[in-house]
Amino acid sequence: MIVQETKSKELILEMLKDVKKIFLVGCGDCATVCEAGGENDLKNITEFLESEGKKVTGKIVPDTSCHIPDVKMGMKKHAKELEDADAIGVMSCGAGVQSLGTLYEEKIVYPLNNPLFLGNTERFGQHVEYCSACGECRIDQFGAICPVTRCYKGILNGPCGGVNNGMCEIGNDTPCAWVLAYERLEKQNRLDNLKEPVQSKNWAAHLRPMRHLNPSNIKKMEEKAAKRAAKEAQKGK
Ligand code: SF4
Ligand code: SF4
Repeated sequence: MIVQETKSKELILEMLKDVKKIFLVGCGDCATVCEAGGENDLKNITEFLESEGKKVTGKIVPDTSCHIPDVKMGMKKHAKELEDADAIGVMSCGAGVQSLGTLYEEKIVYPLNNPLFLGNTERFGQHVEYCSACGECRIDQFGAICPVTRCYKGILNGPCGGVNNGMCEIGNDTPCAWVLAYERLEKQNRLDNLKEPVQSKNWAAHLRPMRHLNPSNIKKMEEKAAKRAAKEAQKGK
């Protein structure tokens, strides 16, 4: 999940200082879970903006705002409200904001949230960063504890000298990722994993912007390419 929070009211007002009429978009997925883009959050921000003299022409909470075709479909019945607005305010992560920017290039799109990190939910309403989506996952070596993300320094051959009673030197009640990995591997009787130095990661595995196709899409594309090639061959005869 993309953990996120809504910008401060002061910042939102500053950002929207030239906007008189705005259409609001939330997100029924991560932003809703973070209480930063669900129906209720949009209602609250609407009340706030209207108390500041702005008109909210309409609003929508798509199931998943980063899903461009779904957002496009959902927005169809809001065409008039969108047309009436000077701008779009989006309460989602930056991916959702860019869905709207891609679909409505003529409109100014404002990000009302700050995306924070890719998070695991440890308890209801409590999210922690476990993974940074680095593009090359080999955390089996560390007992499924990610040192890239959960070690403050991201070191692959730890721990550093900052461990204090199992906690990281940064404090904040943060356990040292390397102590966690050691304890996990000990339970699995796999401490030998830590004897060999870990090879450096292939950082080229995460070249931005990343792209990904589901395997079924790749298959469809291959089938289409094969059909095209067959047609071309037929024409050539
Ligand atoms: S190594 Fe860590 S950051 Fe990279 S994909 Fe695996 S869990 Fe995520
Ligand atoms: S104490 Fe542990 S988690 Fe903190 S920076 Fe050092 S190795 Fe990383």
